[in-house]
Amino acid sequence: MIEQTHCSLCASLEVSEYFKDLRRSYVQCSRCELVFVPPQEYVTREAEKAEYDLHQNNIDDAGYRGFLSRLMQPLLERLSPGVSGLDFGCGPGPALAHMLREAGFEMAVYDSFFACDDAVLTVSYDFICATEVVEHLHRPGAELERLWSLITDGGWLAIMTKLVSDQAAFAHWHYKNDPTHVCFFSRDTWRWWAQQHGADLEIVGADVILLRRNC
Ligand SMILES: [Zn+2]
Repeated sequence: MIEQTHCSLCASLEVSEYFKDLRRSYVQCSRCELVFVPPQEYVTREAEKAEYDLHQNNIDDAGYRGFLSRLMQPLLERLSPGVSGLDFGCGPGPALAHMLREAGFEMAVYDSFFACDDAVLTVSYDFICATEVVEHLHRPGAELERLWSLITDGGWLAIMTKLVSDQAAFAHWHYKNDPTHVCFFSRDTWRWWAQQHGADLEIVGADVILLRRNC
């Protein structure tokens, strides 16, 4: 029942139908504008893991490194030398962490399927990266809150995820067809989140979101 669905980002109950396809439905929160799949329509954790196992990215793949550099390049322009970071949702082959180590940064990694060391989430970082992660989160509000609490003053949360534009585009959007993608942010959703957290927001290109924790 849509009426009983809380927004997974802001917990509002004011959600309405956004789109429906053969497999599942999508609703939108009127407060933060997140578009999300109702939890009762999620795939199982086993099916989710099987999907990730299909998409193992090679650390030496030039195309994949180029893809990650869309986030890494603008982040590098903003980081001081020698700071430390966390690659959250690093996947089975932590390519971004590897690239950032090559660039001289100390990196920790975390992934709930492939590098599940909760101790990593008890220390602070100057920056946290989450590439192609937030669209998979079942509890994006709580998870983003936790990541934000780990970032030092003046530090960065750097996110890469495809952004929702409107319903007409959503209908033909391949991004929604991945069964593990369950929440879809728009520019307005990030503006809302940044405002709630007093963060400075920069959206670089089509899919890179940089949030700075104010000193
Ligand atoms: Zn919401």
